[in-house]
Amino acid sequence: MMRVVLGGAELAGLEISEPAASVRLLVKWPDELFEIPTWNGNEFLLADGRRPALRTFTPVSLNNSGLTLDIVRHGGGAIAGWVETVTPGEPCAISGPGRGEEIDPSADRYVLLGDETAIPAIEQLLGVIADDVEVEVHLEIVDDQARLDLPAHPRAEVTWHVPTMGNSPGSTLQRAVEETGIDETTRVWAAGEAAAMQAIRKHLFEIRGMARSHTTVRGYWKVPR
Ligand SMILES: Cc1cc2nc3c(=O)[nH]c(=O)nc-3n(C[C@H](O)[C@H](O)[C@H](O)COP(=O)(O)OP(=O)(O)OC[C@H]3O[C@@H](n4cnc5c(N)ncnc54)[C@H](O)[C@@H]3O)c2cc1C
Repeated sequence: MMRVVLGGAELAGLEISEPAASVRLLVKWPDELFEIPTWNGNEFLLADGRRPALRTFTPVSLNNSGLTLDIVRHGGGAIAGWVETVTPGEPCAISGPGRGEEIDPSADRYVLLGDETAIPAIEQLLGVIADDVEVEVHLEIVDDQARLDLPAHPRAEVTWHVPTMGNSPGSTLQRAVEETGIDETTRVWAAGEAAAMQAIRKHLFEIRGMARSHTTVRGYWKVPR
């Protein structure tokens, strides 16, 4: 994970009030000049018709120091590559924010599941879920070094999962959700690789019969298939 702090007068007016909200970060492609794309009615495109390096991240904090993002160093990505080489003062752009999560005050228990991309969001959710609510957290990380200190919550039980070689991303989260207890007062929030999240959604709705309003399950990135 790489922490990036974005600054500039242009951040004036940006307000982030909900946990697990999102912003879109635009950067330049390697060895090119920074360019603001235009909206063609369907998507943002660069002047030569290519797609820009524009991806979604969770705002970690926004204050006088700037807008902080925690970006997973996964290798091979436009932004993942950019964070390895970016130097202070390089231009980029932000749009947003996108909606975050509204905590349900009637919930007795939250189950939070995510891979490394969801750690910033889960940190924020842990910070706002009431102290008397039980929280079961499952985080899938590529190796033990990726463990972070999460905000303290008096009733949270956190399990870190490192998948064994050959398992698809999110497989440990799928198993965790299958093994957890769910009742009317449970709320589930999950984010990670899109296919794993689809499987979790299917399990919650079709096997557990959970109400859609009691779940938030979001594909944060996608393995090309
Ligand atoms: C609402 C929302 C909030 C998000 N918050 C965060 C956040 O706070 N921090 C964060 O790091 N990400 C976050 N993500 C996920 C992030 O947008 C994606 O991981 C994005 O694809 C990264 O862009 P990239 O340019 O590095 O890789 P891309 O150019 O999009 O992808 C290139 C290749 O890398 C693979 N890839 C992409 N992401 C990963 C990954 N995490 N692990 C392994 N392989 C990957 C893709 O499958 C693809 O093959 C969030 C996504 C959403 C929708």
